[in-house]
Amino acid sequence: MNNSKSTMQTEKRTETIKVGFTKNWILLRMWISIGIHFMKRYKNPFLLGKIRKHILSLKQVYTTETGIGKLAYVNGKYYFNSNMNGWPSPLFYRPLEVEVSKALNGSISNLENLKLVQIAFTKKCPLNCEHCYEGHELNKKDTLSLDDHKQILQKLHAAGISVIQYGGGEPMTHVDDLVELFESAPGKSDFYIYTSGFNCSRKNLERLKNAGLTGISIGIDHYLAEKHNAFRRNDKAFQWALDAAKNARDLNLVLTFTICATKEFCSEENLWNYLNFANEQGASFVQVLEPRAAGNYEYQDVYLNLEQLTTLETFFLQANADASKKHLPIVLYTGYHQRKKGCLGAGNGYLYIDTDGYISSCPFCRNMKTHILDKNHETAIHELKIDGCDLPILN
Ligand code: SF4
Repeated sequence: MNNSKSTMQTEKRTETIKVGFTKNWILLRMWISIGIHFMKRYKNPFLLGKIRKHILSLKQVYTTETGIGKLAYVNGKYYFNSNMNGWPSPLFYRPLEVEVSKALNGSISNLENLKLVQIAFTKKCPLNCEHCYEGHELNKKDTLSLDDHKQILQKLHAAGISVIQYGGGEPMTHVDDLVELFESAPGKSDFYIYTSGFNCSRKNLERLKNAGLTGISIGIDHYLAEKHNAFRRNDKAFQWALDAAKNARDLNLVLTFTICATKEFCSEENLWNYLNFANEQGASFVQVLEPRAAGNYEYQDVYLNLEQLTTLETFFLQANADASKKHLPIVLYTGYHQRKKGCLGAGNGYLYIDTDGYISSCPFCRNMKTHILDKNHETAIHELKIDGCDLPILN
């Protein structure tokens, strides 16, 4: 790697990841703003005490035993996680309002209870990656039109859902449609795109940002070009991903690298090399997904064993808490929370809408229920909660 280039980019990262006193000062201001927000809504001191207690209890659910070690600062906002809204922003308070309303026995529907929805925007994709969870659907005729997507978005926004992520297929095969979709509902949620990096030119990302895009998550599965390209079955995939990262970083979009940490990949050396690589490319977050026997991996023995999971968990905790790692991107690892605290997806706070518009617990637990535009979505989400998650619990 080019040393002078790495040094320059590392300096840039230090400004973006907030730790130590600076991070604590930001958190203090954030908690004060949350207090003011709820004081304006609920004047009763007894209720405010109850709200404070409840919000503090949520920290146990959403953070690890090492607490909040880092914040990412992007485009004027601070982020714990690229699956949540940044602060300051009116959208930041929405998930807290839902939790507070539930704690005060308010009436919240199953749809309103969701904090995040991921939508497969299209079946089109120029790749056919080893792990693709939509592998069986790729490049069939799309069944959802742009108008359908607008209706879905209206329904999600009417329920107040504040983070919406578009994946696929490859959503960047439909840039014009995404721009029109985002422009149809300005400011009502944070939009993210899950992409391989395909078609993420500066011009395309800039158009999307102007239409309301908050960030992109790039699927990049190795820090070595030849390994990533083999996994993605395309010789250009690594360069697409790097170019997309540079353009997103230059445009001040929240940048996440998402990796499928396979059995072969899951060593201490690879994980740290990957995190350093993500840092050099300017990512604020690294999201680690475990391989699951779905899509192209259906019926395959891809699940990590106990030793590999332990390696992953140790990496996750150290990366976010060790002083020597403070300049590195924030690591997100949902599998850790799922095993320790239960699944936060599966209709509890999140759901997945597939390429035909049907809802499932997540892209991997494909317990397909009703169409999102059907009226009986409440019963369907309730069923998702009962189904739970099929992630193997090994410890
Ligand atoms: S994982 Fe994403 S990029 Fe790869 S084939 Fe599937 S939809 Fe396309």
